[in-house]
Amino acid sequence: MSQGEPGSAGASLELARRWIGCREVLESLYDYLDGELGPARELRVARHLEACAACGARVRFERSFLQAIRRGRAPSAAATGR
Ligand SMILES: [Zn+2]
Repeated sequence: MSQGEPGSAGASLELARRWIGCREVLESLYDYLDGELGPARELRVARHLEACAACGARVRFERSFLQAIRRGRAPSAAATGR
C-alpha cells in the first residue's frame, strides 16, 4: 500500500506470505475441525483447503470421522454413558 505498487505484484507477495503448506494444515487439522484455531489461522487453513485437493479430501474424511464419533458410534464414549 505505502509503496504504491501496481497491485498484482503486491497482491501475490501478500498471498505468498499468507499461504501455509500442507504440513502446517495437517498439524492444525484437528484444532481446525474443533474450531479451536484462532480466526486468522482458521482463515489460512480454509484458504489452503480451497486450493489444495489433497488436504480438502483429508479434511472431509477426518470431519466425517469425527462426526461419526460424536453421534455416539465410538464404543468407549457412548457405552459408558457417563
Ligand atoms: Zn495441502
